[in-house]
Amino acid sequence: MSLRTAVARLDREALRHNLARARRAAPHASVFTAIKAEGYGHGLLYCADAFADATEGFAVATAGEGVALREAGFERHRICVLNGPADDAEVRDCATHGLEPLIHQRWQGEALDRLPAGRALDVWLKIDSGMGRIGVPPREAAAWHRGLAGCSAVRGVGLMTHMASADDRADEYTHRQWTTFREAIAALEGPVSAANSACVLGWPQTHADWVRPGIMLYGCSPFLEGAEPALDLRPAMTLTTRLIAINHLERGAAVGYGRSYHCPQDMPVGVAAIGYGDGYPRHAPNGTPVLVGGRRAPLVGRVSMDKITIDLRGLPEVDVGDEVVLWGQGLPVEEIATAAGTIGYELLCAVHGRVAMCPS
Ligand SMILES: *Cc1c(COP(=O)(O)O)cnc(C)c1O
Repeated sequence: MSLRTAVARLDREALRHNLARARRAAPHASVFTAIKAEGYGHGLLYCADAFADATEGFAVATAGEGVALREAGFERHRICVLNGPADDAEVRDCATHGLEPLIHQRWQGEALDRLPAGRALDVWLKIDSGMGRIGVPPREAAAWHRGLAGCSAVRGVGLMTHMASADDRADEYTHRQWTTFREAIAALEGPVSAANSACVLGWPQTHADWVRPGIMLYGCSPFLEGAEPALDLRPAMTLTTRLIAINHLERGAAVGYGRSYHCPQDMPVGVAAIGYGDGYPRHAPNGTPVLVGGRRAPLVGRVSMDKITIDLRGLPEVDVGDEVVLWGQGLPVEEIATAAGTIGYELLCAVHGRVAMCPS
């Protein structure tokens, strides 16, 4: 393997452990494991395979992701399409491949009506209980449900909503959304689904029939507070690279674009082969930790496209070629996300391109 190659080590057992953790938290619910956006950066098919024998279904964002799963041979799982179809062709794709789209736009209902009878499609009516993104207003839920149930191509109609603030365990808003949703569907038949990872772990009253955990399956906490050992989640991705240079810079020397860091004394500065071109966040500031040879060291200077620079004053024994861990085992992605002003979701999804995916 080239020294220059950044590697994401993937841990199948961690994925499976985290799914078991979700199932333990919501023991009475069926599970749509969320593997949209290339399995949160871990690979769509890799994740589908890791989860396959322990989940009833998969949740993807687009019909295309669902078709890719079917074409790869995932035939028995239910597949829910969270964005709903984007056009008529995607409505037909859902019917052809047995995908279960969310329905929230008038034209989608009309497109279902135009499908040949006997298609027997399961759909989910998405109700906006307070997220303000996709979903029909709660007061229209009953009329929508009647319309969909009366459509000859539709076999079953599920009832789904999504929570805006479940990551904050102290925010009553989740409770209000749940109440709004329950009232809207009180007289309606069909399976019910509301819970993302934060709801699975923090809001048991919302578990209902189907839960839709995503981020927790990858070992990242869904909560605002960041990593919590008590959650018992294991990182499924450890992002690594190598030191490609160690420079001994003089006191006052500038490091990186914009010269945002000046050496306070003569010091060794390591250069590691990863940057925003690989998905490492450009906004990671001076002080963001990495592990070099298993020990923490801080970034200095700006993240560039292909390189980062590291203060090695505390690690005199490290050498060119040593492994650098950006996040994962021993360094929670949540901590890097907080340093860079974002969330673990974004960092994991952004890993791409040059990074070699190394499944275990
Ligand atoms: C992404 C997504 C999920 C999974 O959310 P996590 O926070 O990753 O658990 C569940 N439901 C919907 C509608 C989503 O878009």
